[in-house]
Amino acid sequence: MECIFCKIANGEIPTEKVYEDDRIIAFKDVNPGAPVHILIIPKKHIPGLSALTEDDTALMGKIILIAAQLAKEMSVSESGFRIVANNGPDAGQSVGHIHFHLLGGRKLGWPPG
Ligand code: AMP
Repeated sequence: MECIFCKIANGEIPTEKVYEDDRIIAFKDVNPGAPVHILIIPKKHIPGLSALTEDDTALMGKIILIAAQLAKEMSVSESGFRIVANNGPDAGQSVGHIHFHLLGGRKLGWPPG
């Protein structure tokens, strides 16, 4: 198995975990782009948004809920935060396992570069 996020999900690669349940894990991005930069991923290998199916609906909903809860825990719920999922080359997706960036703790530019 070559997928780095699958290895994080199964504990093979250590990470700074901030949330885990049977289906989802969240951890600090190793190269943070903001004071708060968390990645939330399903443990199940899904290559990206383009690979989602109807079966993933509840899982995706839970991920967004966890992201919003983590934003509260990280004290950026009121100041503001962003959830980003890059999909494909033009969006700069660098890891082929679906992941949601939770970014906050500074003024975020719009539109993204
Ligand atoms: P993306 O460019 O949207 O595919 O996001 C991939 C993210 O994964 C980047 O922000 C990387 O810094 C992050 N990343 C890659 N490897 C690790 C790792 N071992 N632990 C934590 N974050 C990682």
